[in-house]
Amino acid sequence: MTGLSDSFQRPINYLRISVTDRCNLRCVYCMPAEGVDLMAHYDILTYEEIHTVVKAASEMGINKVRLTGGEPLVRAGLSNLIRLLAGIEAINDISMTTNGNLLARYAAELKEAGLNRVNISLDTLKPEKFRQITRCGNLEDTLEGIKAAKAAGLTPVKINVVVMAGVNEDEIIDFAIKTVNAGWHVRFIEYMPVVGDEPLTGKLVSATEMRARIESLGKLEPWKVDVGNGPAKYYRLPGAAGTIGFITPITEHFCYQCNRLRLTADGKLRPCLLSEEEIDLKEPLRNGASALELKELIEKAIASKPEGHHLAEGKKRNGRPFSQVGG
Ligand code: SAM
Repeated sequence: MTGLSDSFQRPINYLRISVTDRCNLRCVYCMPAEGVDLMAHYDILTYEEIHTVVKAASEMGINKVRLTGGEPLVRAGLSNLIRLLAGIEAINDISMTTNGNLLARYAAELKEAGLNRVNISLDTLKPEKFRQITRCGNLEDTLEGIKAAKAAGLTPVKINVVVMAGVNEDEIIDFAIKTVNAGWHVRFIEYMPVVGDEPLTGKLVSATEMRARIESLGKLEPWKVDVGNGPAKYYRLPGAAGTIGFITPITEHFCYQCNRLRLTADGKLRPCLLSEEEIDLKEPLRNGASALELKELIEKAIASKPEGHHLAEGKKRNGRPFSQVGG
């Protein structure tokens, strides 16, 4: 069988895989200050188990995978997983979302194993602020990671910036200038209040507002990007080699074009990041489920994919932290 679609006729061809709930940073918008309970090692899918799931999904129409976490690079031997996934015939795009702190060490090895490209999360260009936002990280390590990713050919390297009012909104222009003078591909993400009890609009800077500020540098020209599966809308500043993307989970949600499923580190299939519905694959896998049985569970997850999320209407998300389900 090829070609999957959900009950709302959305084609589903993209699987995001959280390979670990562990992270080497503690970003304020992702994790509560007190930290989160960690999964037991036994509960985390092995690379072979992830391979079995992706192989079954690929036979149903999934052809793109993204590795995320937690921080995928804190899991030992990640290139072994990439090599396994690259060996699946129908998978033609393997990407990773990372904070880039360890990327300088692994970029070449990951590329060699079959990783195609990376998105790197970076919310500030100021060392002190980087430490505040990540609660522990080092900006220089991420900048080295960006350089190493480009040198290794993990391209296009996209930089994800979560914009927060009163925190890093003063750097929107600095990031936009990077698309002109350094050819960066920058994607500005609207902040989602998923930690604690914040009001919806507390730290929100809408993409419309970001755009207006960036246009003080020149008119943004709509741009088509060839590589990617995501919901960003892309533009270019005059003369820029890089692009500017906007991801608008709050002011213009893109659920109508959602093409993805998520696999959590502990083996649950999640039809939507922002809904708590999950279908367990770990126990069936460990009880010897056949490929056919796995496919039935994958179909069930797709059938239960909700039409959309309700963050913008102020509905709180009370479920597992992003680090566990793969943001
Ligand atoms: N550790 C990796 C990283 O930092 O890229 C992967 C996991 S992280 C949860 C994945 C993405 O989710 C990052 O780009 C991060 O900026 C984004 N993210 C996390 N919390 C968010 C929030 N509250 N609002 C918007 N984006 C968020």
